[in-house]
Amino acid sequence: MRYAETGFNLEIDLSTGNIERVETDPRLTELHLGGLGTSTKILWDRVPPEKEPFAPENPLIFSTGLLCGTPATGANRTIVSALSPQTLLMGYSMMGGFFAPELKYAGYDKIIFRGKSPELVYIWIQNDKVEIRDASHLKGIGAVQTAEMIKEELKDPNIQVAAIGLAGENRVFTASIEQGRSSASRLGLGAVMGDKGIKAIAVRGTKDINLARPAEFIQLCNEVLKYIKFRNENPVPNVMTILQGLGSPQEMLHFDEKWHTENFMWGNARTRRKDFWNQEVEKKWRDTQELVRTRLISCYNCPMKCGAIISVPGISTYMMKCFSKLTYTMAAYSDLDFGFRIAQRATEYGVDGFSTPQIMAFAFELKEAGILSDADFEGCPSDNEGKFYWLLDRIVRREGIGDILADGTHWAAQKIGKGAEEYAHNNIKKHEQLPLKLGMLNPVYFLMYATGEKINITQIEGQFPQAPFMTMEERQEFISDWIQVPDDKFKQIVLDWEPRGERSNPYFPTVDMSVDIVDWQEMMHYIDDALGVCAGLSSFPLKPPYHIHNYPKLISAATGIDMDEEGLKQAYRRNRSFLRAFNVRKGLRRADEKPPEDHWKKRFPELEEKLLDAYYKFKGWNSDGIPTKETLENLDLGYVAEDLEKRGIIKNGQD
Ligand code: SF4
Repeated sequence: MRYAETGFNLEIDLSTGNIERVETDPRLTELHLGGLGTSTKILWDRVPPEKEPFAPENPLIFSTGLLCGTPATGANRTIVSALSPQTLLMGYSMMGGFFAPELKYAGYDKIIFRGKSPELVYIWIQNDKVEIRDASHLKGIGAVQTAEMIKEELKDPNIQVAAIGLAGENRVFTASIEQGRSSASRLGLGAVMGDKGIKAIAVRGTKDINLARPAEFIQLCNEVLKYIKFRNENPVPNVMTILQGLGSPQEMLHFDEKWHTENFMWGNARTRRKDFWNQEVEKKWRDTQELVRTRLISCYNCPMKCGAIISVPGISTYMMKCFSKLTYTMAAYSDLDFGFRIAQRATEYGVDGFSTPQIMAFAFELKEAGILSDADFEGCPSDNEGKFYWLLDRIVRREGIGDILADGTHWAAQKIGKGAEEYAHNNIKKHEQLPLKLGMLNPVYFLMYATGEKINITQIEGQFPQAPFMTMEERQEFISDWIQVPDDKFKQIVLDWEPRGERSNPYFPTVDMSVDIVDWQEMMHYIDDALGVCAGLSSFPLKPPYHIHNYPKLISAATGIDMDEEGLKQAYRRNRSFLRAFNVRKGLRRADEKPPEDHWKKRFPELEEKLLDAYYKFKGWNSDGIPTKETLENLDLGYVAEDLEKRGIIKNGQD
């Protein structure tokens, strides 16, 4: 019997209409845990580097995590992966909500799509009954509305639906997959879904998930819940509001946006408005948010309520969770009311709320600079908000200049030329980043930005404070109940870290300390992404309920796999280097590991090189960021080393 996982994947060939329920290899679960780990293995096996993102052979995988569907709080992530049209590397994006547990209850750990459907279809999964259905009546319909229509059509409100909007149908590179209470937004996976002709996946499951040692597992889950309650009642002191608690940053709960609006950049990520926030703005924004926020909502089996139902008078209801509350507002130099209104249209279209506003601000900057012409904007209204609606429509429909912009700022700048590349200044690995521009280089963030393959800093950072505490008392207080640390050396770093002087950024934390910190942060994210646990309860907050000390116990009790801390760390290292090997085979090298030039005003080229050298060495990769043969063999990935060797990427075991 298989525990925690179902032991079956659903394989759907859209070209032939063939549907198969395929038993999986339990040994792979032991090696990679599940979720992102086993999806990387599938992509490695099936996507040779010559394949393009829109090739029929590029599989689109909807994966549950190993703990999804069990009683573990917050174990609800769906990990969507495919080759990304945006970065041409492995694209993976997580969505919360209810989809993954429902898929498990239907009897599947993953859905693997290959091929392409000649017509627009949706997939209807009802336990063992799986159908490919005509979706021609849903063509052009919004993602949220599509879900509603499918539920009505199938006469079951409990069905979970993941759908794309018009952006995905038109293969817009920032297309998201929307899922009612969550979305997989980054890296253009909605475009891959649209390219395959899948409008939506509807799933309803009523089977059970087996647990190896249920009583022990429930006891561990209760401890997690107890800790969540404790932390909610005892916010972490002396850190900014969004880092005090658990969950995603609780943007729907908080009204105080001083930090975001004054520290993040407006427009095309260039302008800081340091005195923007005042009492008048606060009151206006609070009123706006209270007016449209109908109620706070949670994902499956979680008490945190990070999202909210948003009902703006006159337009249909949608869900908002995080920073997209501000991204459109800040890109357009507008106010919160505009942000809530345009986000509704953007959600129905199904676009990434981080990248899309930046693409629009980039386009208007190019127009101001004379790089794009009036002819490119023929018919565009002159008022600020009207301009943004107009351009969003053009991008999603791929009309006129919108067709070029639909590929994101990196590719659009290349096509536009005339110096447009200088304006696509906020990218890493060809993808738009959070619009943050800071003063002094932070060595830990440098490494995370440079080497992260999720291409989204909020999905790489966490665990460790973002800035030093001002006083020794605050530091002592912080470390006093810091049970999550894998090693006490991290406590010492917090004690020694000063806001100014020798023991401050950029030389403190030191190079080796920075590598250690980043490795810890990555470890927790990679484990979460394999288990399907929300980062908001594990890898993102400062003091989360899940950590390296209780995860092995939870995994063992759920799956029956004999897991200890070292075993879990080894699974993380394996998954990390495997994903790196996939991207290396696609061409990723050290030269690509660069945060935007203007991310920090003060840069330290020599130190940055040292940081990268030390990070690669720590991982067992060569100086170009390529895992060595020895490293791969030690991680049971000898066949990966062989492949890289055959292709001439690894030579003499090293270079
Ligand atoms: S912490 Fe928030 S985002 Fe995470 S599962 Fe819970 S409600 Fe969803």
